[in-house]
Amino acid sequence: SLLLGLAAIATGSALAQDTSEVPKEKHDYQSDVARLRKIVINSLYSNRDVFLRELISNANDALEKLRLTALKEPEVLTGAEELNITIQAFKDDDGHGRIVIRDTGIGMTPEELTKNLGTLAKSGTSEFLARAESTDTTGTGNLIGAFGLGFYSSFLVADRVYVSSLAAKSSQTPEPAQYIFSSSADESSFETYPDPRGNTLGRGTEITLILRDDALEYFDTHKIADLVNKHSSFSSQFPIYLFTQR
Ligand code: ADP
Ligand code: MG
Repeated sequence: SLLLGLAAIATGSALAQDTSEVPKEKHDYQSDVARLRKIVINSLYSNRDVFLRELISNANDALEKLRLTALKEPEVLTGAEELNITIQAFKDDDGHGRIVIRDTGIGMTPEELTKNLGTLAKSGTSEFLARAESTDTTGTGNLIGAFGLGFYSSFLVADRVYVSSLAAKSSQTPEPAQYIFSSSADESSFETYPDPRGNTLGRGTEITLILRDDALEYFDTHKIADLVNKHSSFSSQFPIYLFTQR
């Protein structure tokens, strides 16, 4: 279900782009990820809409994982009451369009950020890569529809993506720390570092997309509402709140 929030959004808690003071770890993408990202970035514009469906589906998976884990280990519910998804679109201080998608799901530890977003574990990926690299871009468009691109579809609309995540508190992660994964569209490496804001999320994951200048259409709340209604409102068992800027 999609719930439209007309409250002015608190952009004050948004991620700052100047993190020059923060010690960062640099990681190289696994080579398959580098290939996949290249395909994503060169693929057809007409498929760009899929990024939102993929990110909402990941948020939904993370919430579902939390719900299942909580049956055995209720401690994981610590930190954030409602299991929900929040979407905000606003213009940042540098004048860039941003879309921020937050969930109060299971979250990721720093090690999981690196492993889950920097390597490919998906079955079918090598088949996808082989077929995509041997077809023209029109064919790639159909392939994307058939396989789905997951998290990397963010780079269809974003120059840079930040993923900040705070894992749920559990016996395995008794003292979780909020960490950031940061990657630009055109580099073969990514960075991880402690979130300078501290553990602000309560629990879960926040994806910040810095929109490409040619993707500013997605900055429009009506456009986002349309996409959520078209692709995701039925498949999500958790409330989705969409905030508009006033
Ligand atoms: P898939 O969803 O098919 O596994 P994705 O590329 O969409 O592939 O995501 C890769 C992995 O990153 C997921 O399997 C999950 O472990 C992790 N991930 C992505 N988004 C989130 C999120 N919002 N919360 C927790 N984990 C996430
Ligand atoms: Mg996914």
